[in-house]
Amino acid sequence: MADKQENFKTEKWFFITHRNKCTICGKEFVNGDESFIGHLDSGELAHTCKECSSNMSDARSYSISGNNHRTIPRPSAKLWRYMDLAKFLSLLDESSLYFTRIDHFNDPYEGALGVATNEDAWIKMEMQRRAPFVNLKEFKDDENDFEKEKKEFDEYRRKIRTWRLNNYISCWHQSESESEAMWQLYSRDTQQGIAIQTTFERLYQALPVTANCEFGMVNYIDYSEYNNGTSGKYFHMFDAPWYKRLSFAHEKEFRVISESPDFNMLTDAHDLLIPVDLNLLIDNIYFSPKADKWFVKLVSNIIKKKYGLYCPMLQSNLNRASFY
Ligand SMILES: [Zn+2]
Repeated sequence: MADKQENFKTEKWFFITHRNKCTICGKEFVNGDESFIGHLDSGELAHTCKECSSNMSDARSYSISGNNHRTIPRPSAKLWRYMDLAKFLSLLDESSLYFTRIDHFNDPYEGALGVATNEDAWIKMEMQRRAPFVNLKEFKDDENDFEKEKKEFDEYRRKIRTWRLNNYISCWHQSESESEAMWQLYSRDTQQGIAIQTTFERLYQALPVTANCEFGMVNYIDYSEYNNGTSGKYFHMFDAPWYKRLSFAHEKEFRVISESPDFNMLTDAHDLLIPVDLNLLIDNIYFSPKADKWFVKLVSNIIKKKYGLYCPMLQSNLNRASFY
């Protein structure tokens, strides 16, 4: 069982890091292409187009649709999480990452499809788009038909809304350097703020494969332009958690979404605590630029002595003295 999970984890990482083109002929995939994953005779993994899949004895179909709507950073991309002391100690003590259920965020656009005034136009378009794939007869511009079809469509939407609540999110800031703005935003008491810095690959490896996680950068958009019933800009309901409003663009958010995870990990608040290997996860720990020396010393000792973590612990140098 454990071996099987390890293999799946390795295979998924291979897919993530080789998702854009066939690893044999180099053909670039476009959305909707069918691709295959499996092993070559040499034992190496391959992610191929249909033509090249005959090179693998164990080729299995992988759909790459739905992976093109979000950017996946390179494995060494730095990811940051800024927090206050309480959240940091909870991370160490539980040895788990906190994932917030999608409807527990303050942002009302979290997982949203568009602006409310565009809903009717979107429904009309979505029903037409969907008609060929389901048993709905082609929707005609007739009010009675519309009402009947809409009932079925409402049922479908109800299912999607239930699915939405199975999405749990861990938010990270992607940047190669520390950010003054993030200290201000995410450590309420900036004197006692702490940031952990990891990389995409470390984060992937530290999470259990049973958590069923997807990874990627958030797309920042003007919602009035999307899903508004014109054929223009569109994203599927299942992809909604990968979009946020342009006004959050400064957050450069990388997110991990655990979809329908192992529900043994649920907290009392109906969020998720997913166990992580802290030594794998944490590359560096940073103390706030405003942290006092005693605070840095105290927390460093706790990290080392109580939790046995020996990663580099650095004080932010954002407040290094300047001269004029
Ligand atoms: Zn190929």
